[in-house]
Amino acid sequence: MTPPHSVAEAYAVVRDEIRRACVAAGRDETTVRLLPVSKTQPAARLREAMAAGATQFGENRVQEMTAKAAELGNGVSWVLIGHLQRNKVAAACTVMDELQSLDSLELARALEAQYAATRPGDQLAVLVEVNTSAETSKSGVRADAAMEFTRALRDYPHLRPQGLMTVAHPDPELASRGFACLAGLQARLRDRDGGGWNELSMGMSGDFASAIAHGSTCVRIGTAIFGQRAAR
Ligand SMILES: *Cc1c(COP(=O)(O)O)cnc(C)c1O
Repeated sequence: MTPPHSVAEAYAVVRDEIRRACVAAGRDETTVRLLPVSKTQPAARLREAMAAGATQFGENRVQEMTAKAAELGNGVSWVLIGHLQRNKVAAACTVMDELQSLDSLELARALEAQYAATRPGDQLAVLVEVNTSAETSKSGVRADAAMEFTRALRDYPHLRPQGLMTVAHPDPELASRGFACLAGLQARLRDRDGGGWNELSMGMSGDFASAIAHGSTCVRIGTAIFGQRAAR
């Protein structure tokens, strides 16, 4: 299936749909970030999205992210949304501005060590990935372990936790339940910590309107902008 629009047109359509979902939810559209997910797409397609207004991209593989970062140069920021292996931490930290898929304390420890050794004055923005659909997703911290996990992150001063991320179940009803679960966790975290945890990264091409209704502050959109991905 090829997209009916150019990347620029599709980007504008998605922006418009986000706007409408915000209106429907009684929210200000500036509270929702559009993160284009560019995995498998060649740099030329990313340039088209940049021409339409994109300033950051989500990738799920370190090597692909660093290659595109080298190709596109300055003016773009990179968000890792896929599982990060500890042996790729050093490479990832050369380009990654934000990690949305922090899913273990081992990874937190490795990131902390990398920052302490190579850029002690900086912090990495992280979101804790929560597994809200145990049936389909293998990655992410279990929802019932999230309170304890987030407390443990206080031991890593080079990590700046900004919020939570989830990949929802494909079934709309279960996805909606997952979004509500993530929003509920956010409320408990804010309660415990007296604020913070502002980011809720939830919603993809098929379910972002529902995610926005549940309080999403970052929708991660691949297919609806770039078209169907080739298998790899
Ligand atoms: C691929 C991916 C997306 C984008 O999915 P689409 O359905 O193509 O919009 C969002 N989040 C994560 C974590 C992904 O891996």
